[in-house]
Amino acid sequence: MSVETQKETLGFQTEVKQLLHLMIHSLYSNKEIFLRELISNASDATDKLRFEALAKPELLEGGADLKIRVSFDKDAKTVTLEDNGIGMSREDAITHLGTIAKSGTADFMQHLTGDQKKDSHLIGQFGVGFYSAFIVADKVDVYSRRAGSPASEGVHWSSKGEGEFEVASIEKAERGTRIVLHLKSGEEEFADGWRLRNIIKKYSDHIALPIELPKEQTTAEGEEAPALEWETVNRASALWTRPRTEIKDEEYQEFYKHIGHDFENPLSWSHNKVEGKLEYTSLLYTPARAPFDLYQREAPRGLKLYVQRVFVMDQAESFLPLYLRFIKGVVDSNDLSLNVSREILQKDPIIDSMKSALTKRVLDMLEKLAKNQPEEYKSFWKNFGQVLKEGPAEDFANKEKIAGLLRFASTRSEEGEQSVGLGDYIARMQEGQDKIYYLTGESYAQVKNSPHLEVFRKKGIEVLLLTDRIDEWLMSYLTDFDGKQFVDVARGDLDLGKLDSEEDKKAQEEVAKAKEGLVERLKTALGEQVAEVRVSHRLTDSPAILAIGEQDMGLQMRQILEASGQKVPDSKPIFEFNPAHPLIEKLDAEADEQRFTDLSHILFDQAALAAGDNLKDPAAYVQRLNKLLVELSA
Ligand code: ADP
Repeated sequence: MSVETQKETLGFQTEVKQLLHLMIHSLYSNKEIFLRELISNASDATDKLRFEALAKPELLEGGADLKIRVSFDKDAKTVTLEDNGIGMSREDAITHLGTIAKSGTADFMQHLTGDQKKDSHLIGQFGVGFYSAFIVADKVDVYSRRAGSPASEGVHWSSKGEGEFEVASIEKAERGTRIVLHLKSGEEEFADGWRLRNIIKKYSDHIALPIELPKEQTTAEGEEAPALEWETVNRASALWTRPRTEIKDEEYQEFYKHIGHDFENPLSWSHNKVEGKLEYTSLLYTPARAPFDLYQREAPRGLKLYVQRVFVMDQAESFLPLYLRFIKGVVDSNDLSLNVSREILQKDPIIDSMKSALTKRVLDMLEKLAKNQPEEYKSFWKNFGQVLKEGPAEDFANKEKIAGLLRFASTRSEEGEQSVGLGDYIARMQEGQDKIYYLTGESYAQVKNSPHLEVFRKKGIEVLLLTDRIDEWLMSYLTDFDGKQFVDVARGDLDLGKLDSEEDKKAQEEVAKAKEGLVERLKTALGEQVAEVRVSHRLTDSPAILAIGEQDMGLQMRQILEASGQKVPDSKPIFEFNPAHPLIEKLDAEADEQRFTDLSHILFDQAALAAGDNLKDPAAYVQRLNKLLVELSA
């Protein structure tokens, strides 16, 4: 036992305590994954060492033979993992094994319900990692030393997983990390060569460096035990370098969990080797579930970059556009230099062409998923649809492809479910229809009964209902799809083109002519509030609506900007009325100018309310309405 100095006891960060508690209680039925998580960390640690040693070969301290060793002691009830990777200093151990650095963690922890089933899903979104050791161990000892530091700068970290840990400085001759798990009573099964070998084969076969176990040896009675021999139990070659046909689905899935720090299987993957002018291999995955920090600006994103099989960096963001930031994977290039930096990546023209090729790969992978596994695609859309909607604005070249992947609610979809693709929409278009109609608004409940839909309902034309915050902004980038123009049904003078017959049009013109007088009276009554007054052809049940001017900002965008305190350009709506509605008939017949004005204002305000807008002067509306009610009952 080496001498321990500068011993201190420290408390875990609150979030770590919560995570530990959750993990121990919700992952119990999956407990063997602790080994996968610890091996994954050890593998990362050797990757980091190999990379740092490119610039500083002395870090290898003469030993470039990187590996992970797993051993056990049945009597002591321990399992030990040892790696000769980058290791940790005392400070590293305190921060890495005592706190969680991910931003948004505290918020995330608030979502825990205490219901173990639900929470175990949440933990999948979070990633489990080192702390999973405490699922099977009631004490964990970590002995580590950072490569390149003197032997005297080793650290011993120890914890029972109950709120605090101890650290002490120790001598450690070999660089790297040794983790000793003291198994809980009842978990002794893990101190067994067969069990460990099976778990490693199952979860960690794809790890690119050797994972060794002690060779089973039989000793005859009275004979001295021979020196320990080790044997490699995994395949120990980088998965992506192997031919596709030889890789089993399970291997792809386990590899994903390693690089994605995910707990669940991915939805799909795409493995490709590119040869020719540029040479690289990529293995890209669509996760099944959004990580808790998908919308955090500084959340990790990007691919794991290798250059000729040597790990170079995590989270290389330059290979995919931002709107595909949820994709996980590796890219292994033969063309880049080993000492490539993030700055160089941002400027390198090689990266640009790789980026556009990888982007296509991802979009193809998603197209395939949508086509062949519609149920999975639905779940993909729920998790990542909002992010994909950023695509048309960011990636002009792939706009059409991205648009084809979008899903919307419509007047035909089930209660607001975003399940309608533009392809489906077009396939269902009415004869004579050459436009894609949509309506944006605050919520599904609000738009589904919008008066703007009345004429479409009458004619049986499908309208897309867009109610996500990002939608109006999205639609400012989507002008057409498959040669068909998008038309906002709340905007401008709705022209249904061939969907209206010649007779319809003639009849409309005649009505407009007949109501010219009413239009003028309304203009006078509503004055500054409106840009225009006209007869509507889109209403069947409602007396009036407000249409947005062709060039004006939509309501949703205006509300978002106003809420964020920004100045919004002034614009006035167009007041359209339904000449066949009894209220409008009454209005037309009203001789008393004061009452005419009051009723006009009430209709205007009601139309604003139906559109989901706020009234500028709600008190005046109530007063006018009450006045009418009193007259009515008098
Ligand atoms: P994650 O791996 O997702 O970052 P973990 O909780 O598993 O989270 O590990 C936290 C950190 O502890 C790692 O990021 C790494 O810095 C450090 N660490 C864990 N295991 C090792 C190891 N075997 N060698 C060196 N560092 C390690």
